[in-house]
Amino acid sequence: MKHCLLCSSQLKEMLTFSQFFLLKPEKPRICSSCFENFEQITDQHCPRCCRKGSAEICSDCQSWSREGYQVQHFSCFTYNQAMKDYFSQYKFQGDYLLRFVFGETVREKMRAFKGYLAVPVPVSPEKFLHRGFNQVEGILDGAGIAYKNILEKRDTVAQSSKNREERLQTQQCFSIKEDQHLPEKIILIDDIYTTGKTLQLAKQILLEAGVKEILTFSIAR
Ligand SMILES: [Zn+2]
Ligand SMILES: [Zn+2]
Repeated sequence: MKHCLLCSSQLKEMLTFSQFFLLKPEKPRICSSCFENFEQITDQHCPRCCRKGSAEICSDCQSWSREGYQVQHFSCFTYNQAMKDYFSQYKFQGDYLLRFVFGETVREKMRAFKGYLAVPVPVSPEKFLHRGFNQVEGILDGAGIAYKNILEKRDTVAQSSKNREERLQTQQCFSIKEDQHLPEKIILIDDIYTTGKTLQLAKQILLEAGVKEILTFSIAR
C-alpha cells in the first residue's frame, strides 16, 4: 500500500494500464486532501508574473518595467502556509522524496512551453554540498521533465548600493558554464518567485550571451 508523502495516509492504488502491464512502479505522490492545501493560481493574477489578486500589472512588475527589465513569468501555486511548510521540509530538512509532490502539476503546466529548453536555476557549490541536491532539479526530475544545467552560481556578499539596477549588477552571481551551446529559447525554472530578482539576474546573463527569448517559471509565487 502506498502512502501520502506529506501526511502518510494510505493512498488508493492508481495504476494505469501501462504501469500494470509493464510493471512500472507508480510514482510517489500525495493524497487529495493534502493537495487541496496548496492554492493553484487562478485566472485572477498579474499578467506578467502570476501574482494572485488583481488582473492589473502588479507593483513588483511596474518597478521592473521602470528599470528597463521585462518580466514574463509563469507559476503554479501561491506561496501560502502549506507551500512554506512543504519547502521547509523539502529544502531545509532535506526530505528528497518530496521532489515528487508537484510532479503532475509541473508536467501539465510545462506542456505549454514546447520548444523552450528548461534550465534550472543553480544553487551555489556551498549550498549543494550542504543540502546534497538542487531542489529545482529534483522537482524537474520528479516531474520527468528534461532540462540542461547551463548556469552556475557563486555565493555573493550582500551589498547595499543605491538603486536596484546597481544592486543587480553588483549582485550578479550567475555565469554560463564553459562550452555551452545556447538555444534561442529558454525557460528558466526556480522554486519560489518572491521579488523576481534571482530569475532576473539569471535572465540577464543569458540575454547578454545572445539567447533571444527567455521565459521564467516557478512552482510558487
Ligand atoms: Zn496527505
Ligand atoms: Zn507582476
